[in-house]
Amino acid sequence: MNLDDKVAIITGSSKGIGKAIAERFCKQGAKVVISSRKQEACEEVAFDLKGKGYEATGIECHVGDDLQRQSLVEKTIQAYGKIDVLVNNAAINPVFGPIEDVEDVAFDKIINVNVKSVWSLSNLVLPHMIENNGGSIINVSSVEGLHPGFGLGLYSMSKAAVIMLTKNQAKEWGKHQVRCNVICPGLVKTKFSQALWSNEKILDHLEESIPSGRMAMPEEMTGLALLLASDDGSYMTGGVYTADGGYLVK
Ligand code: NAP
Repeated sequence: MNLDDKVAIITGSSKGIGKAIAERFCKQGAKVVISSRKQEACEEVAFDLKGKGYEATGIECHVGDDLQRQSLVEKTIQAYGKIDVLVNNAAINPVFGPIEDVEDVAFDKIINVNVKSVWSLSNLVLPHMIENNGGSIINVSSVEGLHPGFGLGLYSMSKAAVIMLTKNQAKEWGKHQVRCNVICPGLVKTKFSQALWSNEKILDHLEESIPSGRMAMPEEMTGLALLLASDDGSYMTGGVYTADGGYLVK
């Protein structure tokens, strides 16, 4: 699988799963745009990748901000002239607990950052992909989008919305050769999930429920993303793919 000369935007790629995907894409020949809320963090990752001989640019974008989404797409076109791959990876989970306790403001924030951003950024990228005779959009959901998790109700709801949005994108944009797929990771060792794996008791309990018996490292999400981004996945669209150590096999 190679991504020679392909240009990929990966949101939330200053750390965690997004960063691992960016580095894997680089290794396979892509030019990548590293993006997160902090320009400095993006530049650091891009600098590191360039030091390894890869092509990368850091462009700040809070995915919940309309103007920053537009700027991310415009600056990518200025830098590289086209967009072949978009990975909508950035997401938040600001609340834990019963759904009835969540404040309105937190509800709106989750929908804005986890769902609206995916819809809007994909729409902004679409004309460039059409001009380019196709492209690949990879949305990052979660096993929580397929199965209700304890205490994660609204996050779970937002990730389910991302799955259905992806299916609709695939249905409507297939005619443009724009493929849209969704990845549902299980528990991955990143800052995002730190509250789960840093507590030994919780981690033991969770790992008991995973057939593979352990959580994943971010790099273990990258093979799937690479397949979906590359021409080896040319007939794959509208798919929902788990990488969860068998967690959903019950
Ligand atoms: P992470 O290590 O915490 O990284 C999150 C990345 O997103 C960082 O680069 C962060 O950088 C950026 N970010 C956060 N809020 C943002 C915003 N509003 N706009 C733009 N960038 C933002 O998280 P992760 O575990 O890799 O999570 C990546 C994706 O995987 C998420 O969609 C998450 O829901 C999903 N997922 C994770 C797990 C897991 O167990 N880790 C499981 C299932 C699904 P800044 O702080 O600099 O903005």
